[in-house]
Amino acid sequence: MSKLLMTPGPTNIPTEVQNILGQDMIHHRFDDFHKIMENLNEKLKKIFFTQNDVYTMTCSGTGVMETAVVNLFSKGEKVAIVNVGNFGKRFVQICKVYGLNVIELEYNWGETYNINDIKKVISENNDLKGIFVTHSETSTGVLNNIKAIGELTKNSDILLIVDVISGMIVNEFRFDEWNVDCAVAGSQKGFLLPPGIAFVSISDKAKKALYKSDLPKFYFDLKVTIKYYNEKKETPWTPAIPIIRAAEVACDLLLKEGIENIQIKHTKLRKYVEDEVQKLGFKLFVKNPEARGNTLVTVYREDNLDLTKLRDYIDNEYNITIAGGQGKYNGKILRFGCLGLLTIQDFNNLFKKIKKYIEENN
Ligand SMILES: *Cc1c(COP(=O)(O)O)cnc(C)c1O
Repeated sequence: MSKLLMTPGPTNIPTEVQNILGQDMIHHRFDDFHKIMENLNEKLKKIFFTQNDVYTMTCSGTGVMETAVVNLFSKGEKVAIVNVGNFGKRFVQICKVYGLNVIELEYNWGETYNINDIKKVISENNDLKGIFVTHSETSTGVLNNIKAIGELTKNSDILLIVDVISGMIVNEFRFDEWNVDCAVAGSQKGFLLPPGIAFVSISDKAKKALYKSDLPKFYFDLKVTIKYYNEKKETPWTPAIPIIRAAEVACDLLLKEGIENIQIKHTKLRKYVEDEVQKLGFKLFVKNPEARGNTLVTVYREDNLDLTKLRDYIDNEYNITIAGGQGKYNGKILRFGCLGLLTIQDFNNLFKKIKKYIEENN
C-alpha cells in the first residue's frame, strides 16, 4: 500500500531512486564504491554551494547534529543556541549532555530570532566559541535568516553551525557565501531519499577547531571520517550502501532540475498552500511573512475542530499523511509538508477532502 506523504520529511521517493535502492549489494572497500563516494561529494558541493568537501555519514539527522557538537568544541566552552522550536531545543540538549556552557536564546514557537539578541550575546561574551541555529525549524515552519548571522561571525573566531536538515534544497542556502562554518543535512527531507544517511560540511575555520576538540567521540569522529575519505574515498564504518548509491541518483535529479528552479517552484507551491488553507478556515501559525519557509505550512484553527481526528481520518480513508504538532503543540497545529514531488494538484485533492470533513464534522 503506497501512501502520499505530505509531511516535512520523510518524503515519497522518485522512481529512479527506488530502482537503485532495490539493486543487489556492492562492497564498500572497492573501486566501484570509491567512485560513487567521489561523485557524490562533487554533487553535494554544488547543492551546498561550497568549495569544501561534504562528508556522508550513516545516521539520521540528529547524528550529524551531534557530530557538529562533539567535533568542534571542548568541555566547558561557551556557545549560543538560537532556539525557535523543537529542533533548536535539540541542539541545546546535545550541547548540555557534552558539558558545554550554553547560552540559550529561546523564542516563542512560530517566531524567528531577533538579530539584536545575537549582537548582544557576541558583544557581551568575548569567550563565545559558536552559534548554533536551525535553518528551517520543522516544528513550526519558521525559516531563520542564516546570512545575517554569518555577517556577524565571519570576521571572528566564532563558529556558525547550521542545521539545514529540512531547510536545504527547497529554500536558498549558500554555505560559502553566507560564511557558514558547519552545515548538517539529512537524507529524508529535501533530498527525496529514505532516512539513513546524513551530510556534514565544514569550513577551514571549523577544521582548526576540529583538531583541538577534546569532547569524547568514536563513531562520530569527523577526523576519522575525513581521513578515510581523503586517503581512500571510503567511510570508516560500513555505510548504508544502498542509500549512498541512491543519493548519487537523487543529486543528479536535483541538479538536472536546477536548485534555483526547485526553489522558485516551491515558493509558488508554498504560497498557494498558504492561500488555500486560509479559505478552509485555518490560520497561518507563522505570522511574519518574512519568516515563512518553503519546507512546510503550519496552521491552527480557532474553532473546536479536532485536528488529530481530521489527520487520522485523512490518513485512514485516503492514505494521505499530514503531520500534526510536536511537543507542546501536539493536537494544536497541522503541518503540511511542501517538499519534493508534491504538486498543486496533490494539495487541491487534499483540500477537497479536508473541506468535506470540515462540513460534516463542524
Ligand atoms: C528532521 C530534522 C532533524 C533530524 O531528525 P532525525 O529524526 O534525527 O533525522 C533535525 N533538524 C531538523 C530541522 C529536522 O527537520
